[in-house]
Amino acid sequence: CGIIGVIGKSSVTSSLVDGLRRLEYRGYDSAGVATLVEGRIERRRSEGKLDRLVAVLDKSPLDGVIGIGHTRWATHGVPNERNAHPHAAKNVAVVHNGIVENYRELAAELRAKGHSFASDTDTEVVAHLISQYMDEGMGPQEAAAASLKRLHGAFSLAILFTGREDLLIGARLGAPLAVGWGDGEMFMSSDALALAPLTQKISYLAEGDWVELTREGAVFHDVDDRIVERPIKLTAYSG
Ligand code: GLU
Repeated sequence: CGIIGVIGKSSVTSSLVDGLRRLEYRGYDSAGVATLVEGRIERRRSEGKLDRLVAVLDKSPLDGVIGIGHTRWATHGVPNERNAHPHAAKNVAVVHNGIVENYRELAAELRAKGHSFASDTDTEVVAHLISQYMDEGMGPQEAAAASLKRLHGAFSLAILFTGREDLLIGARLGAPLAVGWGDGEMFMSSDALALAPLTQKISYLAEGDWVELTREGAVFHDVDDRIVERPIKLTAYSG
């Protein structure tokens, strides 16, 4: 339902949670965040309101200069902690809005290759599919682009990779995604409103686009993987 991603200069957890608070108005049944801690994907998730996620984070704080967060409105799998996003496979964590229609076929294919699933969601196949392509030798960008071509449905995604403190990948196919430009930090969200306290400079992914975010900026790719320019718009929001 709501996506936030931050590549920051210092710990990003509070920015992720603040971003999720600005997405609360959309409604949700669970929430979660993932960051890289010493290069490893670490997650904190909770059913229910953000205050419950904050309580989990108070008990078990999460550091990391890069991360993704999500508020979930369940479509596949009941609202509980194990179905809350981010979902993770070996090298990859994802947050996802919308529906992957062909997740059953993809899950069957991945199970045959030895993957096992920890949730009942349609989302988790995306993490495993990217991870599978990386195991077959692709880099993160190539694996994400190859995976996107296999997914049917309407969705947006943010993707975090083990050992990559300087890379988030976002994708838009039927659901919105915005990129926020900072000074040595970069952001993404399903709703530019969530980025208002962080930056006024926003670029929108066009339909079918995917984007590589690093601390230096964003490189946009269209549905055929060609590098494309997407304009920066100044928003009027603040605070
Ligand atoms: N289909 C996904 C799920 O049920 C994402 C739902 C959403 O947009 O929050 O977990």
